[in-house]
Amino acid sequence: MKIHEYQAKMILKEFGIPVPKGGVAETPEKARSIAKELGGPVVVKAQIHAGGRGKGGGVKVVKGPAEAEKVARALLGSQLVTPQTRPEGQRVKQVLIEEAVETDRELYLGIVLDRAQAAPVVMASRAGGMEIEEVAATSPDQILTEVVNPALGLMAYQGRRLAFGLDLEKELAQGVAGVAQNFCRLFTARDCTLAEINPLVLVRGGQVLALDAKLDFDDNALFRHEEVRALRDLDEEAPLEVEASKHNLNYIKLEGDVGCMVNGAGLAMATMDLIQLAGAAPANFLDVGGGATEEMVEHAFRILVSDEDVRAIFINIFGGIMQTDRLARGLVRGIQTTGLNLPIVVRMVGTNEKEGWRILKESGLNFIQAADMKDAAQKISGLRQSGEMR
Ligand code: GDP
Ligand code: MN
Repeated sequence: MKIHEYQAKMILKEFGIPVPKGGVAETPEKARSIAKELGGPVVVKAQIHAGGRGKGGGVKVVKGPAEAEKVARALLGSQLVTPQTRPEGQRVKQVLIEEAVETDRELYLGIVLDRAQAAPVVMASRAGGMEIEEVAATSPDQILTEVVNPALGLMAYQGRRLAFGLDLEKELAQGVAGVAQNFCRLFTARDCTLAEINPLVLVRGGQVLALDAKLDFDDNALFRHEEVRALRDLDEEAPLEVEASKHNLNYIKLEGDVGCMVNGAGLAMATMDLIQLAGAAPANFLDVGGGATEEMVEHAFRILVSDEDVRAIFINIFGGIMQTDRLARGLVRGIQTTGLNLPIVVRMVGTNEKEGWRILKESGLNFIQAADMKDAAQKISGLRQSGEMR
């Protein structure tokens, strides 16, 4: 789960990481009054979950309250397009107004959960700012890393090693090392999967300040972080994914056009490979789970067909705990209530298989029966070749 920059900065503050003074506004008038209170030049920052806002015109430095109001008026309610949003952009509902700071240097500080190391890895670079992706791609040697022992956190010597690697003088080095250690504490304490401060800046006079902050949390750990769950902004998430999570379905939208419904994550992964091998591409990942009910199947089906990219459907079910006759009933109801008119390939084996197939056949609906995975792949590629998949 992602959160907004202003929310991430509140958490940073809690962990002793300095951030600029500021406040969040939903209206241009509020933006003006916050700017007035701060005094002097301010930055107006669009709050959306996607990054790349600087490049997309979502971060503007202005002279004072009047200009802050004007920029806020233009941003609020607009669709902000950045290199990281979808082409239609993301709607701006809030802007963060902060004191503008004069910076000497922009550094990068990030923490990811590294699967290969099976541990968090802290990354730092002297080349922070808006081109960090470019730096990572062309000169990865500019990025320093420290592997964190999860039981110990980032050790003081590791923080120092990072800071001196960035060519910082003693006092600043201490500041940056401290921020890195605190950031690491935050990462573990709040079960993050990714945390980023870009840029982490050195202000004239020797202070270290987090100008931007991004946090991404492990969804599987949210149950133990009520205060994090409260920060969720459903408007920023894919609507079908939100709908699916209400019904305890694991749904992730993908780029292709074959909608698939599967039970079990392993089978779902195998199914997506199978679709690719058949020369097609999955439109989604949808795992209805081992013990799905008839209602869950119906909801799942509705979510599948609400995706406008879907041109054919592949149902791949292994009835272990799940009874295939239940699935069949949910499926038939789903088709009848949505009035779906797309080809559906079904591979369904296991518990109550005969009864399941009887229900599908007696429904009078047109299911394309696949005997096994291989047969399913051939039938999917057949749909494409015959032009049945428009
Ligand atoms: P992002 O593009 O979505 O990552 O948004 P950022 O919050 O990182 O802002 C983009 C850029 O705007 C930063 O890299 C900074 O260079 C600049 N910026 C943001 N806040 C300030 C500020 O208070 N003062 C100055 N001078 N620049 C700022
Ligand atoms: Mn940034």
